[in-house]
Amino acid sequence: MRKKIIAGNWKLNKNRAEAAALAKSIVAMYRPEAGVEVVLCPVFTALESVRQAIDKSVVRLGAQDCYWEEQGAFTGEVSCSLLKDAGCDYVIIGHSERRQFFGENDLAINKKVQAALKQNITPIVCVGETLQEREADRVEEVVGTQLRVGLQSLSAEQLEKVVIAYEPVWAIGTGKTATPEQAQAVHAFIRKILTELSVPAAAEKIRIQYGGSVNPGNVKALMSQPDIDGALVGGASLKAESFIDLLHFQESARV
Ligand code: PEP
Repeated sequence: MRKKIIAGNWKLNKNRAEAAALAKSIVAMYRPEAGVEVVLCPVFTALESVRQAIDKSVVRLGAQDCYWEEQGAFTGEVSCSLLKDAGCDYVIIGHSERRQFFGENDLAINKKVQAALKQNITPIVCVGETLQEREADRVEEVVGTQLRVGLQSLSAEQLEKVVIAYEPVWAIGTGKTATPEQAQAVHAFIRKILTELSVPAAAEKIRIQYGGSVNPGNVKALMSQPDIDGALVGGASLKAESFIDLLHFQESARV
């Protein structure tokens, strides 16, 4: 049984004080018996404030990006060993905004995934198609390539430790969500590719999050799909009340 994992991607929002206040509210309101693994991903400058705010709680810390080199002349970059030192257990890699605005490609993503695993940080590897690609019936081709290249050269043992986030680009920050059935179809396809890349037993253990305008009103239906193992949440993670409603989706009457 895969434990659900819900991560808040705060993107370029919240200064240190705001991030600490939000993290403290989430820790205070989250009921661990909900059994969901919770990850907060603030901006780099707020990692330490959030680390302190979630100290001794079940909530975990994640970063929004990393670099694959350990140290050296790489101005502006942050390595995985520095993220580990800052208290991160997770790092989001290959978010569509990084692909779109910063030219990240699958080969770079693969190097980042390997670097994160080397530091015992769980990579949350984002994949997903644009609207144009969906309309051209290219979802499997696009997502398949992102997975095959982004996860190349990993052993089955390493793959088991990875979290995948399927985020259709057309659903991110747009208020448009994939229907549970649309999302499940792609998640099942992703698990098939993961089986090809590793072995069935390992692929069965890999958690696949859905991301794209997840909110308290649609989370339960999405999470009830057999291959949807959690959510990567942008907008709805920026307020404690909506994020908590998401985390407590199993108790919620809203579907
Ligand atoms: C995201 O940033 O990964 C995301 C899914 O954003 P939103 O929930 O706002 O669509």
